[in-house]
Amino acid sequence: MNLTVVDHIAEGRDALARAAKLAGEGSTLAQREARAIREAQAMKSEAIIGTHYRVRSMGCPSCGCLTLLPKRGRAWCVNRHCAVGGRQRSWDYRELAFLGPGAPKRVQRTESERPPRDVMDVRRLLAFFTQTGVPMSASTLRRLIKLYELPRWYNPMDHRSHLYALSDVATAHAAHLAHTRKGECTATATRPPCTGLHEMFFTASEDAKTRTAAKQLCEACPLRQACLDTAMTYGVHAQHGIFGGLTAGERRALKSTS
Ligand SMILES: [Zn+2]
Repeated sequence: MNLTVVDHIAEGRDALARAAKLAGEGSTLAQREARAIREAQAMKSEAIIGTHYRVRSMGCPSCGCLTLLPKRGRAWCVNRHCAVGGRQRSWDYRELAFLGPGAPKRVQRTESERPPRDVMDVRRLLAFFTQTGVPMSASTLRRLIKLYELPRWYNPMDHRSHLYALSDVATAHAAHLAHTRKGECTATATRPPCTGLHEMFFTASEDAKTRTAAKQLCEACPLRQACLDTAMTYGVHAQHGIFGGLTAGERRALKSTS
């Protein structure tokens, strides 16, 4: 019998009872605290079974970036730009769940001859974001690098490609997502806010958080109705993913009622 698991179950029972009591109080703050306790307990459970999906998919409470890594029961932001006096910031799981993601900061450019410690090639950068709830496509990464003119460094392993700093990419990514969620940056009369975020719209059915983010983008989209009409007319091409703000299941339900 693993004592960590036994302790965790006992602690979980107490925590959930506390959460239920708080939720019963009814005030918004108590509700929020109750939600945070449940969420933190789920994060601890994940840590015990060796997955960290919840922690990885949370935006950092300070910089809003998807740069939280779990270590010793806390979530650490590995974004260099977020650190204070060179020291990494960290939160315990309950704080993390209670605070929620912070507002993304302006993109910081690091210009130095010597590469920072978090430089990576494109493959590793994409792998890093695949483990968060919002995977990034190669084309989105290329677009972010260009759009924010991110600094690059020589790649000694491959002369044809470059290295980029994870912190720079993560900051640009968070700023970009915040813009697209507000519909500012990419949505125009002819260009929907989902441009470049294909994966997000096709993996949305597997994950509630991604689904909510994708639907929010659809809400502000000037092409929403046209997109939905197309999906409904040519249903064969739209069996998966979100179109016009609806999931495949919701579209099927709509079809059956019309
Ligand atoms: Zn941070």
